[in-house]
Amino acid sequence: MKIDILTLFPDMFRGVFEASILKRAQDMGAFSYRLIDFREYTDDKHNKVDDYPYGGGAGMVLKPQPIFDAVEDIINGEEKKPRIVLLCPQGESYTQQKAEELAKEDHLIMICGHYEGYDERIREHLVTDEISIGDYVLTGGELGAMVITDSVIRLQPEVLGNDESAVKDSFSTQLLEHPHYTRPNDFRGLKVPDVLTSGHHGKIEEWRTYESLKRTYHRRPDLLERAKLSDQELKMLDKIKSEDVARDS
Ligand code: SAM
Repeated sequence: MKIDILTLFPDMFRGVFEASILKRAQDMGAFSYRLIDFREYTDDKHNKVDDYPYGGGAGMVLKPQPIFDAVEDIINGEEKKPRIVLLCPQGESYTQQKAEELAKEDHLIMICGHYEGYDERIREHLVTDEISIGDYVLTGGELGAMVITDSVIRLQPEVLGNDESAVKDSFSTQLLEHPHYTRPNDFRGLKVPDVLTSGHHGKIEEWRTYESLKRTYHRRPDLLERAKLSDQELKMLDKIKSEDVARDS
């Protein structure tokens, strides 16, 4: 997968992109990226990429020309128009489902804003997706572009050592993942649940499903409203609810 990021602050990316799994993905040939400082595309004689908002008001607005020119230069000659993602707090909320959708693309372009925001014509006539990484306001889109890159690259085939770990992650299954334990079995008197050391794979799977449902019910009940549960999972959920009622009464 090829990712091109338009940013005024390319240095922000180096540490994140050159370490850990993103680095390994590049070494394997699963991922390559370019950081494009769109200031290099401005036709302003003072090298400016922003200007005052029409109608007045606080803050500077990113001009359309450098961003349109940079994107057109990137996609020049490409047969298929790639997805062009605008990072902005007003975009659709980023989810694991969106990460899975974007991970299927061969080429992504991401545009990182700064200052007050973008000229509206970028939104309306250039991009294919507007994405927000949460209901809060950041100083720029760079952290969002890193979040999206990390989440889509870890979904590329064989990037994670064990493919299982992405399949069963929280949100991939529409539920939060079950709890994990590792050695020692007894840490300061706190014991690992017996079932996990029983060697009984069927019972372990059942425990994990139950705990995953329980955790989701307690922490993110909104996910259960959308989840498609099997009959067995629905029975487990009823049991979890009745246990709660019994405990509270
Ligand atoms: N004035 C804008 C508004 O109220 O919607 C906020 C601009 S913000 C200070 C500057 C830039 O940071 C945005 O253009 C966007 O690229 C990025 N940004 C801020 N919050 C973000 C979020 N939650 N998700 C994605 N990008 C964000």
